[in-house]
Amino acid sequence: MTRAAALAPEAPRVQAMLDALAVIGADPPGITRHAFGDREDAAHALAVDEARRLGLDITRDAAANLYLTWPGADRAAPRTLLGSHFDTVRHGGNFDGAAGVVAALAAVSALKAEGFAPRADITIAAFRCEEAVWFGLGLIGSRAALGILPPEALDRRRADTGLTLAQHIARCGGDPAALKPGTRHLPPGPIRCFLEAHIEQAPSLLEAGVPIGICTGIPGNVRHAAIRITGQDAHVGLPRRFRRDAALAGAEIFTALDALWAEEDAACRAMAVTIGRFHTDAAKHEITVVAGDFTFSIDLRAYDVDHLAALERRFHDILDSTAHRRGVAIDRGPRNAAPLGPCDPALQAALAAAAARAGVATMPLGSPASHDAANFAAQGIPTGLLLIRNANGSHNPHEAMDTADLMTAAATFAEFLRETA
Ligand SMILES: [Zn+2]
Repeated sequence: MTRAAALAPEAPRVQAMLDALAVIGADPPGITRHAFGDREDAAHALAVDEARRLGLDITRDAAANLYLTWPGADRAAPRTLLGSHFDTVRHGGNFDGAAGVVAALAAVSALKAEGFAPRADITIAAFRCEEAVWFGLGLIGSRAALGILPPEALDRRRADTGLTLAQHIARCGGDPAALKPGTRHLPPGPIRCFLEAHIEQAPSLLEAGVPIGICTGIPGNVRHAAIRITGQDAHVGLPRRFRRDAALAGAEIFTALDALWAEEDAACRAMAVTIGRFHTDAAKHEITVVAGDFTFSIDLRAYDVDHLAALERRFHDILDSTAHRRGVAIDRGPRNAAPLGPCDPALQAALAAAAARAGVATMPLGSPASHDAANFAAQGIPTGLLLIRNANGSHNPHEAMDTADLMTAAATFAEFLRETA
């Protein structure tokens, strides 16, 4: 029997947790667990129930993040921290985030069942509000835990409730006033490493027929949620040379960015650019009106600091030259950024070795998405990320992860912890 098969007794409980999470988040046609909302609270409560069953210490921090700790023999020894998040986008899937917390709980449960006693603390974290859709800023819980939440973030309003982040944190039992830059709220003591398991947000593992990717790096990103192009509203009969068409300026920018991406692809420099919002003002721009207003968003991501900075400069050059050529003004609005997350090479090797001992096939793989893990890596904490095979991407109702694949991530964690914790 492989070590992974030894986790089989955990599978029904894991499935029951995933099913319960789907019920908590049910919001046809998908799953919604609002950040700092009742459903995220309910997911935390589910994890607390499991922690009680396992006899773990249960604590929360000023950002209402949840920590479930298995005390080691030496409480002062550097702890291993594992975690992810329970919040989702609106009408998303069940597994983005939740899979990581559930996998960590299953690993601890299996180790407890076999009578393992850790030398140092093992802590499982459920971070609040990883998804950027709620407050226009992602990775909020892990940023707050590490003392790197920008102070102005507390005044951001949740897209649907209109309440500020500070109000939401307080409603969930946190203490927003304590979230000062530079103050860490993680459980005290040194951290040996941070580990996260997360569903892959692309079909690379599916294509390769491999259940687990050992992440080689997490991209950093630069985001503008609302870039506004202002030209001039005009009659459809206006000749081309007089037009200041904001929609065409937007289209030109989109096309130029895609050409930039194609150029980078051809040179094998990994990046991605996404324009999610792209619209005129439907209230006033009719079939007979040249659009004088146009709004779009951008997410630009890459795996290298200098590369990302160069791409951002190219992006601004494209905006400037388009504005000049089209006679429009471009207001870039607020800029947000998420750090690059280099995955620790020694941890990559240790996780691959742990998976091999557990009989789990792995391959090295860059993460397409940003994760809480990126904050830990950017803070110099050795960080490892397991990507779990998943069909249909994420942030949509069709996320499809086999529980058997989640169990291989749990088995890898268990094997890693057995050797190191
Ligand atoms: Zn996620």
